[in-house]
Amino acid sequence: MKTIRLNPIQKFHKLKFRCCKFYRDNKNVFRKQPKLQRRNFDYHKLKVTENEVNYNSLSASNIIFCDGHLITQNPYFNWIPMKPAKGEVLTIRSTAIKLKQDILNKGFFIMPLGDDLYKVGATYEWEQLNDIPTEKGKDELLKKLNSVLTSPYQIVSHDAAVRPSVIDRRPVVGHHPEYKNLYIFNGLGTKAVMLAPYFAKQLVSNIQNEMPIDEEVNPNRFRKVNSAIFNSNADKTD
Ligand SMILES: Cc1cc2nc3c(=O)[nH]c(=O)nc-3n(C[C@H](O)[C@H](O)[C@H](O)COP(=O)(O)OP(=O)(O)OC[C@H]3O[C@@H](n4cnc5c(N)ncnc54)[C@H](O)[C@@H]3O)c2cc1C
Repeated sequence: MKTIRLNPIQKFHKLKFRCCKFYRDNKNVFRKQPKLQRRNFDYHKLKVTENEVNYNSLSASNIIFCDGHLITQNPYFNWIPMKPAKGEVLTIRSTAIKLKQDILNKGFFIMPLGDDLYKVGATYEWEQLNDIPTEKGKDELLKKLNSVLTSPYQIVSHDAAVRPSVIDRRPVVGHHPEYKNLYIFNGLGTKAVMLAPYFAKQLVSNIQNEMPIDEEVNPNRFRKVNSAIFNSNADKTD
């Protein structure tokens, strides 16, 4: 009989599981939206006036940049001091793990995806900021996995991505200090599941009804430290 040794301190994060399931279930719904275009955004084609933003043939009252760690390439917000962290995950197939809706968290996580598939993660790396999976990352995850799972399993895939963390580990949500119709939604770091719904709601209420956004996520907090950089970038984008 196959056995699984899941040891004492186990934390279960149902919220994370439900969010991932929500995303998987709705991915195709989002993709079928007629207005959704999947292509590279060329910042230099963006025209900003006081009441409008224009991009190719599109015009809108506002634009919200959700560029993740690639915000460093956005001329309007590249002064936000990011501290991105690369992470790697494995997807494995196992009939021995009996997690259905719960996530095992024991210095790493095992998250059920359904059909005997599980996500195993994650590593942290601050130097090589790319989405290339490495042998080092894989070995680290396998070592952790093998410390709790004694039954055979199959590795289905191995992926890497970069977490958009900010130097003070707070999100960055709000409008540009100069251009009131340019917004940023970033800095979700390692906690997107918990932070994104809360701050997305705040941002929409702010844009539509001028409701306040928590001061501690205001992009302006970096303006003083980066004023020199900010001014030189603002000149370039005028
Ligand atoms: C291995 C790993 C494990 C994680 N585990 C957890 C976890 O357990 N719980 C949790 O809450 N969070 C976790 N996170 C963090 C979470 O994934 C991120 O916080 C979240 O994805 C950030 O969402 P985002 O949309 O702001 O940025 P991203 O997910 O980085 O998305 C930004 C998107 O913008 C696109 N983009 C950027 N510039 C351009 C451009 N010029 N044109 C077109 N597209 C552009 C990028 O290609 C990217 O698709 C993890 C992250 C990693 C890498």
